[in-house]
Amino acid sequence: MSATDDNQEARKPGESMGAAGGPLHFRVRRARRAAGLSQQELASRAGVQQSAVSTFERHGMGSHALSVESLSRVADVLGLELTGEDAAAAAEISRVAVHFCPLWECPGAFPYDAGSGETAYRPRLIRAVAGRPLYCPDCGELCLTACPGCGAPVPASVAGAFCPECGTAYVGGESLTGAELEVRLGRRRELLSSSGIVDYERPWPGSGSGAPDGA
Ligand SMILES: [Zn+2]
Ligand SMILES: [Zn+2]
Repeated sequence: MSATDDNQEARKPGESMGAAGGPLHFRVRRARRAAGLSQQELASRAGVQQSAVSTFERHGMGSHALSVESLSRVADVLGLELTGEDAAAAAEISRVAVHFCPLWECPGAFPYDAGSGETAYRPRLIRAVAGRPLYCPDCGELCLTACPGCGAPVPASVAGAFCPECGTAYVGGESLTGAELEVRLGRRRELLSSSGIVDYERPWPGSGSGAPDGA
């Protein structure tokens, strides 16, 4: 993966103009390499996960891999100065949260065999304005943004069924037999063509006044 990332960076000639240029994740990667640090070394000095550094360097602030506080520690370690543009981008990003529908009966929930006869449900993840109610586009239930077990926010870098912090299933539900699972999967398949996180760009039909006004 890292070879591809390097190619992507090399393909953007505008980014290489000036030593300090480019979006923050490019500058972090360049500064880290210039300092001779591995992602792991940078992560432990800044008190963050190596996987978060890796995700941030590849996908930037929009990945939600690093909080604003973590980012400023990373910048401190590297001697990087955060610009006004960085702050504006971080403020914009922090107004967005990953929502999920907690109902296992929801048509958007993706059931699968989690092993030993247990059915797990991967929720549809929707990125939308934080702090505003968002109703599930599939069933109308009020969506959540935090793990029901430990309260950790849903990380944008994980499109899974379980909280990476405590292992609690985001969606609790009944275990289905193989045949039931097949029937349900058959009904749901068309809804699942878009995997991962859906960006909330316009009001869903019938979602009413809780919808963000398309900022
Ligand atoms: Zn739902
Ligand atoms: Zn949790």
